[in-house]
Amino acid sequence: MQIKEFKNQNNIKNIFVDLDETLIHTNLAGKDHPNEVEEVEINIASELGRKDIYPVSLRPGATKLLFALREIGQVYMLTRATKDYAIAMNKVFGLGFPVDRIYDREFVKRFNIKPNIPNGNNYLIDDLSSYDNYEKIKFIEQLGPPKYIQIKAFYGFKEEAITSSMIAEIVEIIKKD
Ligand SMILES: [Mg+2]
Repeated sequence: MQIKEFKNQNNIKNIFVDLDETLIHTNLAGKDHPNEVEEVEINIASELGRKDIYPVSLRPGATKLLFALREIGQVYMLTRATKDYAIAMNKVFGLGFPVDRIYDREFVKRFNIKPNIPNGNNYLIDDLSSYDNYEKIKFIEQLGPPKYIQIKAFYGFKEEAITSSMIAEIVEIIKKD
C-alpha cells in the first residue's frame, strides 16, 4: 500500500514566527521589576527626535532559532504589535527580517489582506495556543492551512531560553513535511 500525503509541488516552506513572548519580552512591570534577562531600552518612535521607550529582553536562543529556520524555509514575522514596534525590535536585536517580511497588527487584525508570498507548506511558531490565535491562522490560511507549533512563552527569565534541543525538535517537525 502506498500512502501519498498532499504536498505542495514547489515544497516551499513558509515559516511565520511571532514576536512578543516568542522572540522577545517587553517589561511592562516597570523599573522595580526588571526582567532577569538583560533589558535594552528601545525607542520605537519612527519620527526623528520623538521618544517612545520600551525596556525589552531578547530571548536567549531566539536568533539561533531564526538562523536554523532560515536554513530550511522562508521566514516571516507575524505579530499583533505595531509596525514601528516590530521594526525597532527587529533592528536593535538583529533579528534579520527584511522589512517586507514583517507582517504586523494591520495584517493580523484584518486577516484578509493576502500577503505577497507563494503558496506552500505553512507553519506558525507562537507562544499562544491555537485557540487564542484565530486571526493569525486565518491570515496564513490564505496560503494554505498552517501547521501550528506552540512554544513556551518567554517572560524575561533565563530558564525560558530556546534550547538547542527545542530548535532541533522544531526543525525536525518542519523538515519532515
Ligand atoms: Mg506572542
